[in-house]
Amino acid sequence: MTEDELCRIWVPRVLADPSAFGLDGCLLCGGPMKVVGLFFPNPDVAKRLGQPKGKQRVVFYALCAACNDLPDKVEKVELFLLANAGVQ
Ligand SMILES: [Zn+2]
Repeated sequence: MTEDELCRIWVPRVLADPSAFGLDGCLLCGGPMKVVGLFFPNPDVAKRLGQPKGKQRVVFYALCAACNDLPDKVEKVELFLLANAGVQ
């Protein structure tokens, strides 16, 4: 499945019930959620996050409007997720 297909399937489900996916605020600052994103780690990052061979690891996250406007939000999200997984 492509990233676009995964987003089309999952983003509406996550938006319908964010708390079911463990989302209760902006990943970066804890502010009110505005957008939900899917993070697809590159192969190196996925390995560090413990991705099983042959499976795709996808991480859901939410951002507030301000953090969503950051030009380097993708890098910030990636760093946060890696730090959270203890594999910085
Ligand atoms: Zn934020």
